[in-house]
This record gives sequence, C-alpha cells and structure tokens, in this order.
Amino acid sequence: MSQTETQHASAQDAATAGLPQTDEDGLYEIRLESLGGLGAHLTGKMLAEAAVLGMGLNGAHFSSYGSEKKGSPIKSFVRLTAASGEVRTSAPVERPFVVAVFMDTLLKDPAVLSGLRSGGILVVNTTKSPQEIREELGFEHDTVGCLDATSIALEEKSRINTAIQGAIAQLVPFMDLAAVREVLAATFERKHPSIIESNLRTFDRGAAELQVDQRDPSPEGRDVIGVEPAWGYLNAPIGGVVADPANTVSKNLSGSRTGRIPVFHKDKCIHCGLCDLACPDNCLSWGIIHHEDGTWSTEMLGIDYQYCKACRACVDTCPAGAITTERETPGFAEANTVPLDWSPRVVAGDRRHEPG
Ligand code: SF4
Ligand code: SF4
Repeated sequence: MSQTETQHASAQDAATAGLPQTDEDGLYEIRLESLGGLGAHLTGKMLAEAAVLGMGLNGAHFSSYGSEKKGSPIKSFVRLTAASGEVRTSAPVERPFVVAVFMDTLLKDPAVLSGLRSGGILVVNTTKSPQEIREELGFEHDTVGCLDATSIALEEKSRINTAIQGAIAQLVPFMDLAAVREVLAATFERKHPSIIESNLRTFDRGAAELQVDQRDPSPEGRDVIGVEPAWGYLNAPIGGVVADPANTVSKNLSGSRTGRIPVFHKDKCIHCGLCDLACPDNCLSWGIIHHEDGTWSTEMLGIDYQYCKACRACVDTCPAGAITTERETPGFAEANTVPLDWSPRVVAGDRRHEPG
C-alpha cells in the first residue's frame, strides 16, 4: 500500500471510530498547557487511558516538563487514533485539535495557542466568559469553552485538573464522559481512596459548569510558533555568556501563578525583612528612610508582581500577618505592583514616630 493509500485508510478508520477530525496520519491530538503541580500530566494520562481501555481507540500520552518544578510551564500531549491505527511518533503535538489551558494567565504567551487547527477546541480555566476570552485573544472562530476550575477545586477541596478533565470529556465530541469518569475513579481508588468523592464531584461540576461558545471553523487555524530556539549549538555565544545583561526586565513570571496571590498589608508590617529572605525571586520592593539623627533604615513597600510566581513563601514567613494569600482577580497585580528599583530609593524622612 502506498503512503497516500495508508493515510486514506487511517482517516477512514478514524472516522469509523467516531473521531470527528484527524490529521493525515489518522491522529486526533490534544495538548494540555499547564504549570508544574496542577496535575496536567495525570489528566492527559487518564484521558488516554479512558480512550484506549474504555472507548476502543488506540492512543499515546506523554508530557514535557521543562525544569520540572512547581509553577514552571509544562505541556502534556495525548494522541488518539482508531484501534486499527498506529501512533508512530512521540514528538510534541504542534497541530492540536484541542488545547486545554489550566490557568488563563498562560494565555499571555501566544505560543500556548500555537498550531490550533481549524475547527479546534479551546478550553480555559478562567473566571471570564468565552466571549471575553475571544475578545482578548482575537479568536473569532472555532469553539471556546470556559470554566472556573479554580473555584470549583477550592469549594470541593480537590485540584483543578479533574474539573478540566470533566470539561474536556464534555466538550470533545467522541469522548465518553462515563468512561473518563470511570478511569478517574479507578485511578484515585488505587492512589488516594480518601479523595475519590471530592474529585468525582469536581469532575462532574467541570462538565456541568462549562460555558461553551461554538462558531464556524476558522479558515486556516492558528500558525505554529516558537518551535525553533533563537540559539543553538552553532550560534550560541561561547561559554554560555549572557549577552543581554539585565534581560529579566522582559521576563514575566505572572503566568506561573495559579489563581492565588500574596497581598501586602502595609499597616501590619514591622519591616523585619524576613519575607525578603524567604522570597526565591527577590520580588519584594524596599525603600530607604533617612532619620533625623543621621541613621537610616529600610522599609518594605510592596511586591513587584512581574516576578512573583505566588509560591507564598513570604506569607508563611511573615510573623506579623502582613502578607496574606488572596484569590487573584483580573487587573489586581497590575494595579498594585511596586516595581523593583535596584538603586537605593529614598522613601521619606524619619517615620519612626508615625502611628501604625
Ligand atoms: S516579613 Fe512581614 S512584617 Fe516582616 S517585612 Fe515582610 S511583610 Fe513586613
Ligand atoms: S509569593 Fe512571595 S515569596 Fe513567592 S515569589 Fe511571590 S513575593 Fe516571592
């Protein structure tokens, strides 16, 4: 059989298996865009397991972890095909039919939607509506599904991944919701039996509370971007020299936050500096106060949210309750950030005798 004939047969088998669209190799591909610690890998694994064991498809799943730490971006990939088909690649999914975004802050990176195919599905964990997400992204076609997985997980004392799993199972047309739910129950029964019920409730709510806006397929789908690194072994500077010093000014870690944010309460702060010792990313802004007797001291001014990944080490460390964890609302960080200023910043004169 020629390559064209093989591809044609794969596509026919895929259609028979209920897959609505497939690529030239008969594959239906899903990409999960997430952060370390949110459970995207487990979600991808359970979706693939449900498709293979519960729906009679063939499939594969793997994840790409980057630096493998909590809060850093990860991608998880699921490939499905008809039972008679083969998955002959383990390359990252560059042209997915479904992209599920575990935190809407990740959408700031245009590469998150890279390669989404015409007629594709975008699922986002957000407090926004599909129409608001469309406006933000200039995303006029295809399908957008939104759910507030973070609130669901907080209320059910579970994690967002099972809510998003419910949403994907609900929205992807050939997915068997019951089969995915069954795999979820079996997985938690093996690993964490005490939290099966809360995760099943989270799954059900993810499916039920999903808001969907379905439109005509886009003419061409999204471009594939960000595949090639700017530097490789042929053109990187010798010795790994940083050729662009102070380049973190363009770096924004806000995409690493997972819906919760540290909030500084100046009225409670005793300026002890313990939070500064605890913060792994030096995001706390300080000023210098000159006193009338010629001495000086430092004063905590606030948080530069550009660099804050919301690990909340500062919250745990503060002895005065002057930094608390709050739910991040749109625009809060931008409105309340106190930019880092590495040159000593004189705030005011003597404040030692001021009340509070
Ligand atoms: S640890 Fe708390 S009290 Fe001390 S400087 Fe930081 S915010 Fe202020
Ligand atoms: S949560 Fe606190 S400790 Fe963690 S990165 Fe943000 S400011 Fe630093």
